[in-house]
Amino acid sequence: MSRDPKHFLTDIFGYPDFRGQQEDIIRHILAKRDALVLMPTGGGKSLCYQIPALCLDGVAVVISPLIALMQNQVDALQQLGIAAAALNSSLSGEEQGDVKRALLAGDLKLLYIAPERLFANGFMDLLAQCQISLFAIDEAHCVSQWGHDFRPEYLKLAVLHEHFPNIPRLALTATADTPTEKDIIERLGLQYGEIFRAGFDRPNICYRLTDKVGGVSQLLSFIEAEHSENAGIVYCMSRKKVEQVAAKIAATGRIALPYHAGLAAEVRRKTQSRFLKEDGVIIVATIAFGMGIDKPDVRFVAHMDLPKNMEAYYQETGRAGRDGLPADAWLAFGLQDVAKLKSLMHNPDKSQQQQKLDRAKLDSLLQFCESALCRRHMLLKYFGEDPPMSCNNCDNCLSPPALFDATEAAQMAFSTIYRTGEMFGAGHIIDILLGADTDKIRKFGHETFKTYGLGTAFSRADWQSIFRQLLALGLINVDTEGYGGLSLNETCRPVLKGEEKLQLKKLTVSQKTKKQKTMSSAIFTSKAEEVLFALLKSTRLALAKQQNVPPYVIFHDKTLVEMAQLKPQTLNAFGELSGVGASKKEKYGTHFLEIIENSDA
Ligand code: ADP
Ligand code: ZN
Repeated sequence: MSRDPKHFLTDIFGYPDFRGQQEDIIRHILAKRDALVLMPTGGGKSLCYQIPALCLDGVAVVISPLIALMQNQVDALQQLGIAAAALNSSLSGEEQGDVKRALLAGDLKLLYIAPERLFANGFMDLLAQCQISLFAIDEAHCVSQWGHDFRPEYLKLAVLHEHFPNIPRLALTATADTPTEKDIIERLGLQYGEIFRAGFDRPNICYRLTDKVGGVSQLLSFIEAEHSENAGIVYCMSRKKVEQVAAKIAATGRIALPYHAGLAAEVRRKTQSRFLKEDGVIIVATIAFGMGIDKPDVRFVAHMDLPKNMEAYYQETGRAGRDGLPADAWLAFGLQDVAKLKSLMHNPDKSQQQQKLDRAKLDSLLQFCESALCRRHMLLKYFGEDPPMSCNNCDNCLSPPALFDATEAAQMAFSTIYRTGEMFGAGHIIDILLGADTDKIRKFGHETFKTYGLGTAFSRADWQSIFRQLLALGLINVDTEGYGGLSLNETCRPVLKGEEKLQLKKLTVSQKTKKQKTMSSAIFTSKAEEVLFALLKSTRLALAKQQNVPPYVIFHDKTLVEMAQLKPQTLNAFGELSGVGASKKEKYGTHFLEIIENSDA
């Protein structure tokens, strides 16, 4: 029967099976009931309303806050042969008229709109004349002030229910902690709906953290060794650093574009568009970049500075690997980063309570960074799940860090900090421990100290790693006036007195883990397959350019990977590939079959 959700999944979308709770959610909507869906990025939220939209009579109205994202979704649906349109300010008056006419004529299955549009002149009346199948409220966390992206227009969405009491509503989001979740339910009036909660895990992302020893050069070798052709995002804290890092990556011959709030809107728009429409572009950005980037084949997200807290880390790294193929979350951090974030915690403009919360959040992040436990375990635990102790897809699982007895080293550090009056930064304290001959040491007579030159068993980089860990563990403090002066914390006492032993991680000079493979070599069994994959990619890019759509709207990488591996010979076999539905089979089948046939893979 043509109204069966499964039929649409296989015939239109070309996927063999539903994922996770998709089918339950779809059936729930088909039963005309409301729902809230909490699913991680890349979990497959869109299908949860797109398939009901096809099953039911009338048009599904999708409310989405971002125009760029809307257009992508519409492009993708049109590729599948589905009548979808968006109504937003980027269209001309005439184009808007066309969409409205199609809407009234009942020709649309999905209509994407921004929330403000819903309440603009007479739009509700227009909707009242249409047969509506469902309302989907995407990025539903925008309704909550607790969320990171509050949008006042979202508050008004509660009236949908009053105007259209019998139309099911589906609210979807990837980010909702408990207060946000409560807020969404309350403000959208979803009390009688069901909540579908998928776990936070992103199993295809490999989490890797490394000591920052060489700054940008570490990043460059990571990119060159593992992502020499892949698209990725590099996050930096400041605009200046964004520009510098982008220039250094570009100097290696890659396309690396800076993105931050200081650039003109037009430049940013172009950069974003190139990222979507070209293959292998690297964006170097402040956190201003990411919201509304729906690119499924971002193969790595790198952090050159520590993110603000665990939520930010999860969200930023979550932009990697939406398509489910292997992806990396890579982060380099050093003593300076920890000291800086710690010293920023004192902010008289914030309430005591807010400052306390900020400190607690930073501590969680630092514990995550310094821990020798499975990263995924810690991350999921932070979000309230009960994950297994190891994942085999993070640095700590793949190559467990070596620990060493740092009791004596810590005692030397504590004693030097104490004797110098708890006012000097780590650089000077390390100079003393290494027995350096500096003006500052002579000026203060610090060469007469017992610990002067006592720490030469360690290198400067080792000491930096030790001080970073002491700081992150809260055994020492850094001043909040910004001079970087270190002082002792009460908690250092047992170690200082020799009552407790202290284990620290050895400096990891190499960022290598056992997973030093590029995605292609991990996936393909022969060079010929890799070559075919590259060929298929360039074919896809050419087709995408012709139609002015992002390449992944034509086929996802996953489909091209299957194509290169299975090398279908017939149109029917081509139609069996994941991500190939009836429309794409007809549009692109012959063209791609020819490429496959002519290759020697
Ligand atoms: P989200 O909105 O939750 O971030 P999307 O809806 O964009 O995720 O889906 C992520 C990716 O997973 C998309 O490329 C989508 O086509 C794919 N996908 C979704 N559902 C399935 C499925 N049942 N089988 C295979 N791929 C799927
Ligand atoms: Zn792990």
